Amino acid sequence: MKSENHFDVIIIGAGASGLMCAQAAGKRGRNVLLLEHSKEAGTKILVSGGGKCNFTNLSVDKENYLSHNPHFVTSALRRFTQHDFIKLIEEYGVKYEEREHGRLFCRGSAKDVLNLLLKECGAAGVKIQTGCSVKRIEKEKNFCVKTNAGDFISESLVIATGGLSMPESGATDLGYKVAIQFGIRVIKQFPGLVPFVLKEVKDFKSLSGISVNASVSVNGRSFKDAVLFTHRGLSGPAILQASNYWHKGDEIIVNFLPDIDLEEQFALWQREKPRSTVKNLLSTLLPGRLVAYLSSGLDTDRPISQRGKKDIKKIAEVFSGWSVRPVETEGYSKAEVTKGGVDTNELSSRTFESKKVKGLYFIGEVLDVTGWLGGYNLQWAWSSGYCAGQYV
Ligand SMILES: Cc1cc2nc3c(=O)[nH]c(=O)nc-3n(C[C@H](O)[C@H](O)[C@H](O)COP(=O)(O)OP(=O)(O)OC[C@H]3O[C@@H](n4cnc5c(N)ncnc54)[C@H](O)[C@@H]3O)c2cc1C
Repeated sequence: MKSENHFDVIIIGAGASGLMCAQAAGKRGRNVLLLEHSKEAGTKILVSGGGKCNFTNLSVDKENYLSHNPHFVTSALRRFTQHDFIKLIEEYGVKYEEREHGRLFCRGSAKDVLNLLLKECGAAGVKIQTGCSVKRIEKEKNFCVKTNAGDFISESLVIATGGLSMPESGATDLGYKVAIQFGIRVIKQFPGLVPFVLKEVKDFKSLSGISVNASVSVNGRSFKDAVLFTHRGLSGPAILQASNYWHKGDEIIVNFLPDIDLEEQFALWQREKPRSTVKNLLSTLLPGRLVAYLSSGLDTDRPISQRGKKDIKKIAEVFSGWSVRPVETEGYSKAEVTKGGVDTNELSSRTFESKKVKGLYFIGEVLDVTGWLGGYNLQWAWSSGYCAGQYV
């Protein structure tokens, strides 16, 4: 008979992946303790998707993830798919809706997703201990997790502490420290899905609040979605997506009219509206403040009939290929995810167990796996948590 502080499995981090793993292991009859240092479980789930939790995407593929080991995600994404999670959502009668790009959101609130995970954990007999700070982890035959609430022993230890974004939600670097303690490689972290700061752009503040549909390209990747001008730079889904592929010093290219061949459009206007100014014509397609800003130095107040082919080409190039070099990102306080993390080459892609340390598992965002915007990061938390839960 085991003592009351001895468990089959201890999971550190009661976020998306930790809760998923706990219920899956509990259902297998494993005696599971889930440790969380915040007052409540699942804080990040509650703020996800603007409080509506974009819990998955109708189309999920390894191409939607960044990792130094790009094939690592394939196995788990196949074994616990978006349809498996949708099934769970439907079993609980959670109402949801599809938005653009196949993104699925709760109709009610993100609380619906957290509540169903807590119920699943409850039904599986998982013990959740919140407000519990981990002081030290030791390993002999078993793991010993020393905390402010006492020492806990387990055969399997799962690290599900997430990434560094949103420190106010309880993010810490404990997961990386545990990896390093056990000699497991960690890849340098950067904020991901994060707005850009454009300090060098003069008069940029005048554009604050403008939102347009555009295509943003960086390092050979392009994303078509909304771009939002902030008082410090650029945000919006297309920018957040591009930020995952951006490194300091890289330029980004914004096509403000991705669905229009501007040179052809200008030729049409020259025939049909020769007396209109270029600025007025462009303002029928884009917000006037943005047109005025991008027009600087292009002399767009003259009628379109007076503009030659060379001029037109130059104007078209600015509106469909605006190039800007962000000075930095807004950092972890505004980032949705963390790029980098525990090197997945160190783990089995089937069990998530460390190849070096028997019984030690890493799941979710603490790994060097970063999803696109659109429900991919939570799907990774569900898939990795569920799969590890079959083995711990
Ligand atoms: C504002 C915002 C909105 C987002 N919206 C979406 C979205 O709509 N769709 C989507 O797919 N993704 C979204 N994400 C990303 C998604 O929330 C994360 O990728 C996902 O929650 C990661 O799951 P995880 O279990 O790895 O980590 P988390 O869910 O972050 O859970 C980690 C848990 O570990 C706990 N923890 C940390 N350190 C310790 C410690 N030392 N001791 C004990 N416990 C600890 C934390 O308090 C937390 O509860 C969003 C992120 C943010 C910040």
